[in-house]
Amino acid sequence: MIQGYDKILEKISKSSGLEKEELERRVEAKRAKLAGLISKEGAAQVIAAELGISFDNEKLKIDELLPGMRKVNVTGKIINLFPVRTFVRNDKEGKVSNFIIADDTSNVKVVLWDVNHIELIEKNQIGEGDVIEIINGSMRDNEVHLGSFSELKKSSEVLNEVRTEKIVKEKNISDFKVSDNSRVRAFIVQAFEPRFFYVCPECKKKAVQEGENFVCSEHGKVVPEKRALINIVIDDGTETIRSVLFHENLPQLGITDLENSERLLNQREDLIGKEMVFSGDVRMNKFFNTPEFIISEVKNVDLGELINKLEKR
Ligand SMILES: [Zn+2]
Repeated sequence: MIQGYDKILEKISKSSGLEKEELERRVEAKRAKLAGLISKEGAAQVIAAELGISFDNEKLKIDELLPGMRKVNVTGKIINLFPVRTFVRNDKEGKVSNFIIADDTSNVKVVLWDVNHIELIEKNQIGEGDVIEIINGSMRDNEVHLGSFSELKKSSEVLNEVRTEKIVKEKNISDFKVSDNSRVRAFIVQAFEPRFFYVCPECKKKAVQEGENFVCSEHGKVVPEKRALINIVIDDGTETIRSVLFHENLPQLGITDLENSERLLNQREDLIGKEMVFSGDVRMNKFFNTPEFIISEVKNVDLGELINKLEKR
């Protein structure tokens, strides 16, 4: 599959007449100058701007959308619509609405801030299954945000085959952004002691201990289920990130003996230095105020696949 970065290089190459290899060299030079503070995609955009090439007002496919782009035009089918939320900021009540649109290349979250756009949702003039056109959106991380200068309207375009599955992008940890679904091959450099908590057997929400009993806010006194989570730190050579794995993913990691502290310690020690492939969501940890990787899948490194990839380079 062609990733966004390659596509953008192709576009710059077409508009500028420069070879892709030359552009790649410039991207690396730009990154080196900025001490790696900028992603490859970001650097490619800076190069494009320097060459006088703009992606403004050009209609893009969803997998061509990159963080930081402005004046984005895109069309997609709404595959998932979330309820309108209200919030209070600076004593004023505001509304926000989110949905996911998909085309034949990918899918992306769209965030509406303008009351006129949100009204279209509230009045059911736009809903799930509709194909919509966005004009003048802007990318914030990996989301398309629409403000009062943006346009949102129904499109007459027909989109039959759209990509509805969660898009997980292979990325360096140094390029991780909040709300990304990412996959990375990395080493485990730290594994903390698992923490245990209790959940209601019915709704799976946290059950709070009150004396000898466990209480669910919805179901009252319950016999709780014990759950575990483990924090690990992973390192892919570009950066480290604190990560969390929940109960159901612990066996994939090799943690199976939660009740035997000696064997658990051995299993934890075995993790250190192990290289695996991790997939999950990047979220903001509100307590530490740092990004955290919520891992939902762990796989062993597939050497065959790795060799294939290296040979293609
Ligand atoms: Zn409950």
